Amino acid sequence: MFGQGLLRGLQITWHLAFGKAITEEYPERRPSLPPRSHGSFVLEGDKCRGCGVCANACPNHVISIDTRRGEDKKRHLAKFTMKLGQCLFCGLCVENCPSDALHFKPDFELACYRFEDTIHVLFEDKAGAPEQVADEE
Ligand code: SF4
Ligand code: SF4
Repeated sequence: MFGQGLLRGLQITWHLAFGKAITEEYPERRPSLPPRSHGSFVLEGDKCRGCGVCANACPNHVISIDTRRGEDKKRHLAKFTMKLGQCLFCGLCVENCPSDALHFKPDFELACYRFEDTIHVLFEDKAGAPEQVADEE
């Protein structure tokens, strides 16, 4: 029928103009991301054993781990570094961590001007002993 398309178009325009807004006025209003969204990372240093499973699971060599031998002769995490400029945010490191120490956090604003700022140190034990027992990339 003549004019049916026009009426349909006007109906859509009317619905979008006066219906419920589906956009968010970012950055004034922050989006509430789902808890399992892939953003930046957080490491629970007390849970991490420095085993290197996450670094081995990473397809892009993002994670570097330094460990040291403690007075109890056990291996302890000394430094945990991520080069986020190379990260695919695939989640293989988080999924494979046997200690549930590495997690995503809903922090998606990772753009920066300098390459050095893409390197994130998630943990550093500055009081550590000098003896290094591993340096995995
Ligand atoms: S999310 Fe993927 S690419 Fe990024 S550090 Fe983890 S395993 Fe590597
Ligand atoms: S984050 Fe998990 S997988 Fe990675 S070194 Fe620590 S304990 Fe091992």
